[in-house]
Amino acid sequence: RAKEMGNNNYQFYTAAMNERALERLRIEGDLRNALERNELVLHYQPQVDLRNGKMVGMEALIRWMHPQLGMISPTRFINLAEETGLIVQIGAWVIRTACEQNKAWQKMGLGYLRMSVNLSTRQFYQHNLVQSVAQVLEDVAMAPHYLEIELTESLVMTDVELAVGILNDLKTLGVQLSIDDFGTGYSSLAYLKSFPINALKIDQSFVRDITVDPDDAAIVTSIISLAHNLRLQVIAEGVETQEQLSYLQRHRCDEMQGFYFSAPVPADVIETLLREGKALP
Ligand code: C2E
Ligand code: MG
Ligand code: MG
Ligand code: MG
Repeated sequence: RAKEMGNNNYQFYTAAMNERALERLRIEGDLRNALERNELVLHYQPQVDLRNGKMVGMEALIRWMHPQLGMISPTRFINLAEETGLIVQIGAWVIRTACEQNKAWQKMGLGYLRMSVNLSTRQFYQHNLVQSVAQVLEDVAMAPHYLEIELTESLVMTDVELAVGILNDLKTLGVQLSIDDFGTGYSSLAYLKSFPINALKIDQSFVRDITVDPDDAAIVTSIISLAHNLRLQVIAEGVETQEQLSYLQRHRCDEMQGFYFSAPVPADVIETLLREGKALP
């Protein structure tokens, strides 16, 4: 069809198509080798207790250090990894690396913090997930409750019955479970009640305008109440300003995570923060 539009259009059309298709192919091909070439790294973002201002945990966030393209954000390759199935290997590497790192900090006397990792759908529903998490915890010799697994609403809603079973098995193992980006998905309160989770993470889209948009403020305070009434912890994501922080403190949110305290940073920077005992002012 493009050809009928004349030679120039045809060339334009295929050039644009090719560019996108080629970039995708290239990233896909390169991603296959990224793990063995040690191009994947974890950065860590502190999570802070709003009562005493101290770091209580952190979230592991993957980055791809591409030799030519530079640092590639997970939003650009996690879906691809999911579609190609590479996520299973990559996800297993994330869990192991995050646990090893956390255990190393514990051994160095830098404190006992919670380490959160994100799981993708395919990884979560993989038949041996629970067994492989158990194996990592045993190999690393880290107490299970220092590991937290973050799941999105759409992930658990993909197959609710299966999900509840897996969540219960993970709970029995002793790991903590949280719902990420809470409020942006489609989980129903009836299901929320039956999930053996520990915490809700309020999505950053609600936190952004919390001090200027009454609707966002209402949503955030409602999520905090909902969490507490269900005996869950609640953590706000994407906190960037002092105003957002004090709003959350006034409304008894338990923890915060965001650029205001620290962006996601490499392990050595976390080490410095822990040594210095960085806390909220
Ligand atoms: P997420 O799990 O909701 O992670 C929070 C994202 O918000 C991170 O983006 C983080 O850098 C960003 N962020 C943190 N504080 C602030 C802030 O104050 N302001 C703003 N504007 N943003 C903030 P990142 O690292 O690009 O990760 C994006 C998403 O990629 C994550 O969202 C998560 O869904 C996914 N992801 C990251 N690492 C992994 C992984 O190891 N496995 C899987 N399956 N997904 C991952
Ligand atoms: Mg997360
Ligand atoms: Mg999130
Ligand atoms: Mg997200």
